[in-house]
Amino acid sequence: MTVKTDDLLKKDEKYIWHAIRPYNPNATMVVKEANGAWVTDTNGNKFLDAMAGLWCVNVGYGREELAKAAYDQLKELPYFPMTHSHIPAIELGEKLNEWLGDDYVIFFSNSGSEANETAFKIARQYHQQNGEPERHKFIARYRAYHGNSMGALAATGQAQRKYRYEPLAPGFLHVTPPDLYRSPYKGTPEEQAIAAADEIDRVITWELDKTVAGVIMEPIITGGGVLMPHESYLPRVREICDKHGVLLIIDEVICGFGRTGKRFAFQHYGIKPDIVTMAKGITSAYLPLSATAVRREIYEAFMGTEEYNHFRHVNTFGGNPAACALALKNIEIMEKENLVEQAAKKGEQLLHALAELEEHPIVGNVRGKGLLIGIELVADKETKEPIAVDKVNAIIAACKEKGLIIGKNGDTVAGYNNILTLSPPLNITDDDLQFIVKTLKEVFANN
Ligand code: PMP
Repeated sequence: MTVKTDDLLKKDEKYIWHAIRPYNPNATMVVKEANGAWVTDTNGNKFLDAMAGLWCVNVGYGREELAKAAYDQLKELPYFPMTHSHIPAIELGEKLNEWLGDDYVIFFSNSGSEANETAFKIARQYHQQNGEPERHKFIARYRAYHGNSMGALAATGQAQRKYRYEPLAPGFLHVTPPDLYRSPYKGTPEEQAIAAADEIDRVITWELDKTVAGVIMEPIITGGGVLMPHESYLPRVREICDKHGVLLIIDEVICGFGRTGKRFAFQHYGIKPDIVTMAKGITSAYLPLSATAVRREIYEAFMGTEEYNHFRHVNTFGGNPAACALALKNIEIMEKENLVEQAAKKGEQLLHALAELEEHPIVGNVRGKGLLIGIELVADKETKEPIAVDKVNAIIAACKEKGLIIGKNGDTVAGYNNILTLSPPLNITDDDLQFIVKTLKEVFANN
């Protein structure tokens, strides 16, 4: 039976409340199927999805092995609560430890937001169990996104996503993000990175360090527009957290699972996080799953306590057996096909090819790591004044017209609604990479 797109759109308008935008028939695409990096809508139009959905379909679409892993597990055991255990969760816990390269204990949830909420609750209770009950504040960065729930949104540093829902969870503070392209600090890139990190040191000190529980950050801010830190930033943040007895929570929801050319992006910077949160790429988004990996010493502070003091945090669906079995197969694919190394190599090729766009008068900066790339558009290269959002939207629409889906990120309130983003599947083919480059060059040549 062929489905009529017009009928579907009418029902869509009637029944579906879309993420972020109101219903717009011109912008609404009903996607029917997908394979590799390509999605096909109900009219048969094909698009190269250079965002891998929402930065998440890391092994690409159409992987039958993943469907089979879920199917087999659903037949054998579709569900059992994680108050007990099951084989796929245990095996996935072991595998994640191997990928993290250190000794972590894993708590499973269903989304990136929930993984971060779990991290906040663990951090607060850890300090309580350790005899420092006043430690409750968290420091995050402006322009970062950490999720949609009241705590994860409080950690988020983008006012336009928050202000209608305030008051959010109290106790979250923000500092200036490091950004090699736009930095309010003076000096060499390294000195600027240290200055940005030292803002965290100052805030912890001024807030009174014995009231601060944790610092949360992505290794590279993704949703705020792929803001690149200098390599000295994260090691300095680690030192600052150690100095003040504050936990360092690293949000790998987008950066993890090969996206930046390492298994986890913190591994570029030689640091050991206290807590790592992950989602999206863990299953390449084929099923919902997220995880909060906690350094063993933190976990051990919860051991041997009275029942009253256990970590009182439970969710029904977290660690679903089919999602865990699928995640294991997803990671097996990444290992077999060397997708982490591929992301590093292909990312370098793509970045190199796109760097030529900087010759265009409105392309201020092309940057990224692995297959995580941002293209910042400016009205004036000298002043770096962001270009008007209409122009950004016109470029995105022109790409779509040519069969290429790219993203737009930044921060409306901060005035940076001007960053194009690319985050294609890690197994993207050379032909598809060429298609991305060719399409972007054509679009910029005409705009
Ligand atoms: N952290 C980061 C860095 C994210 O990008 C996102 C989602 N884009 C989240 C957390 C929240 O994840 P979810 O949408 O699965 O709740």
